[in-house]
Amino acid sequence: MMPKKIMFGENAAKEFPYPKNALVITTTTPDIYNKWLDYMGIKNYELYDKVTPDPAIETVEEIKKQYEGKNISCYIGLGGGSSLDVCKYLGKMTGIPKILIPTTFGTGAEMTTYAVISFDHKKKLLQDEAFLADASIVDPYFLPGTPFNIMRNSACDAAAQASEGYDSKLGNPFTQLFCKEAFDILYDAIMNDKHILLPYGAMLSGIGFGNSSTTLGHALSYVFSNEGVPHGYALSSCTTVAHKFNQSPYYKRFKEIAQKLKFEQLKLKQPLDQAADVIMPDRGHLDYNPIPVSKEDVIKCLDEIVNANPLA
Ligand SMILES: [Zn+2]
Repeated sequence: MMPKKIMFGENAAKEFPYPKNALVITTTTPDIYNKWLDYMGIKNYELYDKVTPDPAIETVEEIKKQYEGKNISCYIGLGGGSSLDVCKYLGKMTGIPKILIPTTFGTGAEMTTYAVISFDHKKKLLQDEAFLADASIVDPYFLPGTPFNIMRNSACDAAAQASEGYDSKLGNPFTQLFCKEAFDILYDAIMNDKHILLPYGAMLSGIGFGNSSTTLGHALSYVFSNEGVPHGYALSSCTTVAHKFNQSPYYKRFKEIAQKLKFEQLKLKQPLDQAADVIMPDRGHLDYNPIPVSKEDVIKCLDEIVNANPLA
């Protein structure tokens, strides 16, 4: 599955024919999004700019209520993952079409059927065909100005998703085609400082892993995320060690990416055994790992991540 319409490349967001009376949903401040909207040349639209990071279901319901009966033609999610996720959930609730325009690149969320929404202050990863965008616009125009930290975390996530997706047992020649091409582009973009290629690489990664799955690297990473490490940062070591364990064809090149982006060694507060107990029930990732993973394997991987610098 992928969005019905995909526009990508320079000027894609400028050339897209936006329908009238769209509701733009974004997160940032007016000085930033007004520039974006000017560039897009969009007219006759409504705007909701109060989406916060880790958006809650209450925000989705508030927007639905606020714009009910206003004849909204479509939603336009413009921004990072939060705006896109809110848009996806809203679209599912109301059936109104959605256009997704990422301004940070890495998750590939604009291509996938996944959304992360918080219920009772708990983040939940949801999957539904109804979350798929009706149109996705991937334009590197939004890239410059992204802080280095956000850029490298996103780039690392995209590379991890592409390579884990390639190895996933749910993969097939069609998804692998996207994962392989995504990784090659991301590798070139990162190693040769051609950051303008990151959005396209992340987009292809989204199609590839979104139709297969991520695997051991992602499974290992969530215990670090739970202790506050950003997703992409956690993957730098976790996916490197997972690729080594799996003897992935991507081990060497993924490690080079993590080194090039200057990630440092991870720490874990909780005991490894306890962390392994958190990881083992994550069947959605572990069942599709190319080789079976025992609790002992998980502890060994965690030990390598925190006690032997895998990126050295
Ligand atoms: Zn990820």
